[in-house]
Amino acid sequence: MSTGTHVINEPRMDYRFTDLVDIDKFHRMLASFYQATGILHGLVDHENKVISAIGWQEACTDFHRQHPLSNTRCLESNCYLSEHLHQASFVGSTCKNGLVDYATPIVIEGKQLATLYFGQILHEAPDLDYFRKQARECGFEKESYLAAIRKVPVIPRERIEPIMAFYVELAQMLAEAGLDRLRQRDAEQRLAVLNQGLEQAIEQRTEELAAKNQLLTREVAERRRTERALRDSQKQLQTLLDSSPTGIGMSDVDGKITYINRKFIELFGYDMEDLATVEDWYRLAYPDKDFRDKVVRAWAREAIAAKSGERRPPILEAPIRCKNGDTRYVIITLSWVDDYRLVNFSDITGRWLAERRDRARNATLELIAKAAPLRQILHSIVLNVQAEDQRMLCSILLLDGDGRHLRNGAAPNLPDFYNQAIDGVEIGYGVGSCGTAAHTRQRVIVADIQRHPHWAAFKDLAASAGLASCWSEPILSSKGRLLGTFAIYHRQPSEPNAAALELIGHAANLASIAIERHLADAELEHQAHTDFLTELANRRRFIELATTEVARAQRYRTSVSLIMFDIDHFKAVNDRYGHKTGDNVLHKLAATVRQTLRDVDIAGRLGGEEFAVMLPETGAKAAWDAAERLRLAIAGTEMQAESAERFHVTISMGIATLTDAACDIETLLKNADEALYTAKNNGRDQVCCFPGVFRSDPAGYSD
Ligand code: GH3
Ligand code: MG
Ligand code: MG
Repeated sequence: MSTGTHVINEPRMDYRFTDLVDIDKFHRMLASFYQATGILHGLVDHENKVISAIGWQEACTDFHRQHPLSNTRCLESNCYLSEHLHQASFVGSTCKNGLVDYATPIVIEGKQLATLYFGQILHEAPDLDYFRKQARECGFEKESYLAAIRKVPVIPRERIEPIMAFYVELAQMLAEAGLDRLRQRDAEQRLAVLNQGLEQAIEQRTEELAAKNQLLTREVAERRRTERALRDSQKQLQTLLDSSPTGIGMSDVDGKITYINRKFIELFGYDMEDLATVEDWYRLAYPDKDFRDKVVRAWAREAIAAKSGERRPPILEAPIRCKNGDTRYVIITLSWVDDYRLVNFSDITGRWLAERRDRARNATLELIAKAAPLRQILHSIVLNVQAEDQRMLCSILLLDGDGRHLRNGAAPNLPDFYNQAIDGVEIGYGVGSCGTAAHTRQRVIVADIQRHPHWAAFKDLAASAGLASCWSEPILSSKGRLLGTFAIYHRQPSEPNAAALELIGHAANLASIAIERHLADAELEHQAHTDFLTELANRRRFIELATTEVARAQRYRTSVSLIMFDIDHFKAVNDRYGHKTGDNVLHKLAATVRQTLRDVDIAGRLGGEEFAVMLPETGAKAAWDAAERLRLAIAGTEMQAESAERFHVTISMGIATLTDAACDIETLLKNADEALYTAKNNGRDQVCCFPGVFRSDPAGYSD
């Protein structure tokens, strides 16, 4: 195309006169002009080639050109004309042969294309003498030469210029017109060539474009297919990842988090806005700096080291702090997808908690089995629950022996003033969460203490203890008996989730086992120490307690006395009213003993119908009085047989008092027994004092 542009911009300059002017027409035109004017001419091109010649003079052609001398004169004249042609618009010369020639250049675009010659002519009638002379010199046949000379047109000098101008203008006009045509043709040709080239180029280009277009269309279609496939596969991948039962997070080499799946958000509550980088995640998920630095970063370093694939990345089991403050336990595995870290979080919170709960439960059960003190066990239950979620503060209240009040069991992290205020609270509807739970035997959830009617009377107390919510679960025995309450407090208003409810139930259950076991142990112990018929201490227990009293009396140098007594003729009661009635008598007698004696006195059944009473801080005289009071009380107690018959029984009593000589329980028992024996021997229904200082008879007190 660049060549084309050049051709169009630079018109050709290599044209000749014959290229511009139709020579035949030009020739014919000059011929008719010659006939009209008699002026002859010749046209030669720039290479001196004759283009057109009309009316050459016979004088020249037949004579002057034929003789060397005259021919030389012709050529000289021609040379002169040529040499002077450029100096004027036309030039004339009279050759030495006597004829005149004129020449004028035809110049187009500054270039001489041709030369127009006129001649030969004469300006005036020929000087025949001169020509005769010339005929002689050159040997021409005189008459024919003169005839030829006479044919030479005579044109006055002054007419030459306008004729020349006419010719030149005509020639130039024709040449310029020709040039225009030539140029136009030329241009058209070049344009045609150009057009052809252009058309070819366009055609070629169109073909190329069509081919390219086709290719592009195919590429676009292919690309769309690929994009669609990619979208589909991405969608599939996303769906796959989103439906994954495990949490999945992805990060790039720079530690930027690029993706988290639905389960991840569901598990931990954080979304992409919370987690720009892995560092953000570490900070939020592992708030404990020590754990983060020592465990998590060490794991991450090992995971990076395992990128080469030579060994598997390590597995990390860790607690994750969720956005809502909960803790989730997860197993974290990592894999590399090119430069991306794909981290998988399997939630094992349930299993982890269950295992920990199992461990805690086992530890608690072990304490129970070891018969550790109830308070220690309850304390341990509370601490284990609190360890599951450090936002929880727990307390266990125990039902008092009267079945109407709650007493502190364990609440190691509640303020003392709060525990003291709650201790002994009477159960009832609307008495806080625990009082109400104990009363209704139903779980009571108070999410906001300050707004709940159950807490109306305690909300200021709770506020000063910094407690905002309280969920209380009644602790019930295996038989459904109320044992106490288990409560979880929070410092912020809180609703329990399913896991918390499960936890509270679990803790209450464990507390129930501990309390029930404790009560069973106490019952067993009670039974082991107590005579089942009379509910007095049995012999072994009595001796234990009595021994303790003796030791104390010795330590504090106080007195202590022992009474032993035995029913008179009890065998006869059995015989007469039946054994059952005998049992009833024993039972009623024990009741009378309890009613008559002080609380500090210790009564026991030594066996059969033989009893003993230990009287702390009681000397012989006071013991005597007490014994007498008891003897009379029993004697005055009306007994009833199964047959409804009424009767009375009497007892014989022996007293021994602690002395330097009688300073242990065995001696005291022996001495009292001796005194009792004396009382029996003396007629029964009386008190005898060892070594017989005092004695009573049925008639009453006597010295
Ligand atoms: P005394 O003591 O006045 O000499 O005459 P006694 O009839 O009470 O004689 P003894 O102490 O030898 O008899 C004890 C009787 O008490 C024998 C036994 O049948 C009766 N006994 C002992 N333990 C029980 C008991 O648990 N229930 C009943 N119903 N009777 C008992
Ligand atoms: Mg007896
Ligand atoms: Mg007896």
